Amino acid sequence: MRAYERLLNYVVIHTTSDESNENTPSTARQFDLADLLVKELKELGVEDASVDEHCYVTGHIPASEGLEDSPKIGFISHLDTAPDCSGENVKPKVHENYDGADVDLGNGRTLSVSLFPHLRKLRGRTLITTDGTTLLGADDKAGIAEIMTMIENLEKDDIPHGAISIAFTPDEEIGHGADLLDLEKFGADFAYTVDGGPENEIEYENFNAAKAIFEIKGISVHPGDAKNRMVNAALVACEISSMLPPAETPSHTEEREGFYHLTDIRGDVENAVIEYIVRDHDAGLFEAKQETLRMIEKTLNEKYGAGTVTLTITEQYLNMIEKIRPHMHIVETAKKCIAKQGMEPMDVPVRGGTDGARLSFRGLPCPNLGTGGYAFHGPLEHITAEGMDAVVRVLTSIVSSYAKQADPLRD
Ligand SMILES: [Zn+2]
Repeated sequence: MRAYERLLNYVVIHTTSDESNENTPSTARQFDLADLLVKELKELGVEDASVDEHCYVTGHIPASEGLEDSPKIGFISHLDTAPDCSGENVKPKVHENYDGADVDLGNGRTLSVSLFPHLRKLRGRTLITTDGTTLLGADDKAGIAEIMTMIENLEKDDIPHGAISIAFTPDEEIGHGADLLDLEKFGADFAYTVDGGPENEIEYENFNAAKAIFEIKGISVHPGDAKNRMVNAALVACEISSMLPPAETPSHTEEREGFYHLTDIRGDVENAVIEYIVRDHDAGLFEAKQETLRMIEKTLNEKYGAGTVTLTITEQYLNMIEKIRPHMHIVETAKKCIAKQGMEPMDVPVRGGTDGARLSFRGLPCPNLGTGGYAFHGPLEHITAEGMDAVVRVLTSIVSSYAKQADPLRD
């Protein structure tokens, strides 16, 4: 079975996660896909495949005979789709021998070459799109389909391999995919999430991230009698905004440039709140940004009186590069395997977080590989069958690269 055929089966199962529910899984419907995957894993010979009460699907493939000393590799994808866009009643469209031109998806949506110039390069491939009303769910059901197909091929083509651990996690899109994965039970030395974009992509750097909340207490007096007495909390909030560098916002930055992003501002004379998320790839610059915020707090309290401004900074996630660097073979091997498939490896600093970042800090170094998909989280999402085949070959090649014979001289 080709990976895209599996994808077509998975995307029709509604697995949207729900940010407003704090339980894991956030939506019981994710079990619909989890149960199917357990069944399929067992059919592929993964005897211990199971799903736990939090909807984590795991399974292990023992090493081929004589290869028990090979590194244990994990592969991880997520079951849920992003709540940003409907994932219900997905009706995928398959465009065989795609002509490289604009695609009328129906329902008033066009997948256009002007918006996505890479479409020209997909000419001649089998392109899979939505019908314009939902997202596709290649993020990340393509990753699941590719891992499943890799497992099938190992058996079918009799490819020698070390021990392999598989996990399909819930709720990645709402930031909880890595939380409850039992790493001891998972049992891998390192892993790859298969949850990225183009098939030649590898990601092992992401933002350092924190949330910063300023709470401001004003002094309300009658405006007619306010001279030298009133402190207008809402105006202090505006002042905070004006003290931050105007170019360091998401709309002025790219690649490894960090930013302060104002996410919420509300208030009146008496009370105001201004909230930011702070991001930077560089640990030193990330710390400097937090220091700037603390200086603003101090300055304003000196100006308006102690206790006027209270700043709370909460760390959200950190750049995984710090945890990957001591194990760069994980990245180098993946790059070699991508190159072996005739593609140029593309490393991309992620302007966000990944489940792999959390897992890396929990002790499982875990870069992210591409799935072959584009334009995730919306109705223009698309992927090609051939791109998915290439990812399957990359995954298989990684497994082969790490399979090594036990040292015959060792007792
Ligand atoms: Zn994803």
